[in-house]
Amino acid sequence: MSDQNPVFIPGPTNIPDRLLSAMHVQTRDHRAPDFVETFAPVLEDTKKVFATTTGKVITFPSSGTGGWEAAVTNTLSPGDKVLVARYGMFSHRWIDLCQRHGLDVQIIECPWGSGAPVDRFESALAADTGHEIKAVLVTHNETATGVKSDIAGVRSAMNAASHPALLMVDCVSSLASMDFQMDTWQVDIAVSGSQKGFMLATGMAILCVSPKALAAMETAKLPRIFFDFRDMMKANASGGFPYTPPLQLIYGMRESLKMLFEEGLDNVYARHFRLAEGVRRAVDAWGLKLVAQSPDLYSDTVSAIYVPEGFDSNALTAHAFDAYGVSFGIGLGEMNGKAFRIGHLGSLTDVMVLSGLATIEMAMADLDYPVKLGSGVAAAQEYFRTSRAPAAKAA
Ligand code: PLP
Repeated sequence: MSDQNPVFIPGPTNIPDRLLSAMHVQTRDHRAPDFVETFAPVLEDTKKVFATTTGKVITFPSSGTGGWEAAVTNTLSPGDKVLVARYGMFSHRWIDLCQRHGLDVQIIECPWGSGAPVDRFESALAADTGHEIKAVLVTHNETATGVKSDIAGVRSAMNAASHPALLMVDCVSSLASMDFQMDTWQVDIAVSGSQKGFMLATGMAILCVSPKALAAMETAKLPRIFFDFRDMMKANASGGFPYTPPLQLIYGMRESLKMLFEEGLDNVYARHFRLAEGVRRAVDAWGLKLVAQSPDLYSDTVSAIYVPEGFDSNALTAHAFDAYGVSFGIGLGEMNGKAFRIGHLGSLTDVMVLSGLATIEMAMADLDYPVKLGSGVAAAQEYFRTSRAPAAKAA
């Protein structure tokens, strides 16, 4: 029964029973006075996850991609220049979205497996003395390669160049799993979604917008209707929605926030680090290599792992699913066929991760990979056994 196994894809993530129950609510009238009491605190509490006091949380019925579109169309005008580095499938897709909106996209090409190139951002911004660049777009956690980028570094590069561009950050696969600091990093728009760190069903884009981005909204000319921040904020101000809200997800979000705060955000981040480190120990014991080029880039939510020369990662993920009923992430874009991904985010424990490692080991052994059965599991067991911090026990 494969539906009883956890998934090891990097989102959508496993939904804890507590959140399934929270979303199991009968239709209620979203125009009734009690909707305000449910929804307003959700918006307020979500600010804590973004680590902001000055930002405004805005949600749309959508997925992360809709969040990208909302960020861009609410603050920019046709022909505006944006600066983006391409180092994986998701930074690539955000670039594509900008180009299709008629923006002038200045692309910094980087090898997949590297992260946002802070020094190259700084040179590009310093060279832009006329301040043509209106926004810098950065994918915090490149889910295709398992690479985390240094957003504080990008902000420092922008400040060093005294550049006034907006800083937009995709935190779809990092928020509520890895440390994110909207105010400290002076992020202008952060884009996330319900189906990863929040452990919910897909269907809600979750954004946080700075006062500077809200000022840019006043003059932005890209067309937006469904994703217009102004309509959403006006309706939210009186406790409502400009159209029918995803009610069940909002109930789920309320409970998800409770779960995150009960565990404590720092403990959530520490748990994700520990789970990721257990996976990394296993990868090392297998003699395989991560796509992420260096430890400072390692993502705590997803590991992309090269298969040995002569093997096809698609055959591995297909076999793991067919033989054992467990899903792992396929290699995306340039990584297709070359790497598979283990998602280790959301509602996961050490024991669940061990089951995933044991499964992929069996699949590799079945396909004659030069990997010793049990080696990765043993390395992760040893790490989990010896590294448990008392605060992380609640996970
Ligand atoms: N950005 C990143 C980093 C992602 O991982 C994803 C999805 O996996 C997206 C954007 C797109 O989000 P969605 O699939 O929810 O539209």
